[in-house]
Amino acid sequence: MVNCPGPKMAVQIQILGSSSSGNCALLITENCKILIDAGFSARRLCGLLDSCHETLDQIDAIFLTHEHADHCKGVGGLGRYGPIKVFANHGTASAVQRKMTRRVGWQLFETGGAFRFRDLEVTTFSVPHDASDPVGFLFRQCCGEEDDPSGSSVAWCTDLGHMSHLVKERLRKVDVLVLEANYETRLLDEDPRRPWSIKQRIKSRHGHLSNDAALDYLQTTEDAAWQKVYLAHLSKDCNEVNLLEDRLASTPLKKENGKPLEVTVVDPANGLMPAYGI
Ligand SMILES: [Zn+2]
Ligand SMILES: [Zn+2]
Repeated sequence: MVNCPGPKMAVQIQILGSSSSGNCALLITENCKILIDAGFSARRLCGLLDSCHETLDQIDAIFLTHEHADHCKGVGGLGRYGPIKVFANHGTASAVQRKMTRRVGWQLFETGGAFRFRDLEVTTFSVPHDASDPVGFLFRQCCGEEDDPSGSSVAWCTDLGHMSHLVKERLRKVDVLVLEANYETRLLDEDPRRPWSIKQRIKSRHGHLSNDAALDYLQTTEDAAWQKVYLAHLSKDCNEVNLLEDRLASTPLKKENGKPLEVTVVDPANGLMPAYGI
């Protein structure tokens, strides 16, 4: 086994956008650059990558969580720019491919397993959401042929109706957590644009995660390893960045070492965040 130089090797994550209008993040390690979800048009994705001084031909693969358009809208169009590997489970790949004429370069994985891509160990886990086989991802950098448990890790978990026991356990020990905080219950209840049936779908156990549920998880989880948390996929109509920040300020979170936990709320109107490195 090759020893990692230093205690941890660098992993960089940059959220390019996160809302019901489009979700995508760029993850960079020593040996790969990947996109997590591709929920913007191909043209828009190229523009977002350009803002990060990256180009599409430098991206090694795309990892899809599920087939909803705000997570996979760009997959078909990106194929026009050249072949690109798209990792998904069978349920997601079938649902996305059904809507396309061009064949996508699918790399299928089994939900719940772990596999290696370049210097990343990728673990997938099932999330409760109304899609074919939706997943969350846990990316851990490793070096050498064997697993290296000391590698930096990032979890991506949006679009889930509740925090299942499995999800809670998977997210507890990562360095960077990206977690959904979709709606403030009062704002959703009062929203005049959404019919009752849609509100019930959003609130259901296979809908989206409320601010209450996300904050409760952050506040009650013991022995969490988080260095940084992003709250993402905010509803533009039924949530507010300021409101969520105020709620966070009233109950500050602490890291394992007692220092304040850095929590950033991703603005759905302007999702492009500065890169964060660990
Ligand atoms: Zn979504
Ligand atoms: Zn969804």
